Amino acid sequence: MRVLMHSCCAPCSTFSLALMRSMGYSVSALFVNPNIYPEHEGEKRWLTLWEFASLEGMPVCRVEVGHEKWLETVSADLAKPGRCVLCYRTRLDETARRARDEGFQYFTTSLLLSIYQDHDAIVREAREASRRHSVEFLYFDFRKGYRRSREMARGKHLYMQKYCGCEFSLRGENR
Ligand code: SF4
Repeated sequence: MRVLMHSCCAPCSTFSLALMRSMGYSVSALFVNPNIYPEHEGEKRWLTLWEFASLEGMPVCRVEVGHEKWLETVSADLAKPGRCVLCYRTRLDETARRARDEGFQYFTTSLLLSIYQDHDAIVREAREASRRHSVEFLYFDFRKGYRRSREMARGKHLYMQKYCGCEFSLRGENR
């Protein structure tokens, strides 16, 4: 049972990976997060995920979409919650497309772990991406492991960011 997990960051991937592995899933991670600003922050999150994946023996790859392109997409509705819905759509659509093209049975996302994200909107966007690309969305309410994921990340000395990702969240706008 192969799953492609969209990984927003290493800390949110800790519990998500452990839970899916305990259920017998073979998990690979995809880092497609053009929302992250500035560039050096995106590098830091990617390198942290890479380090975590190496420690865990989890295949991981990164897809570059480009922050300008992401900005163009979300500019259709810059206020929350619209901006975040478009942001989820961008990342989950690419994940579902890759999952189908690369022969995974399922895709999912570590975004489902965060107690700060719009969980229902993530689920809706994932289901739509699933329909568009004909690949099954594997739903978990990872939020029950949110606290545990922070402990796991601290235990592994992983970098933990203080804001969601985009420049708007960095500046605390409409957060
Ligand atoms: S706050 Fe987070 S989810 Fe919302 S648009 Fe910014 S990066 Fe995306």
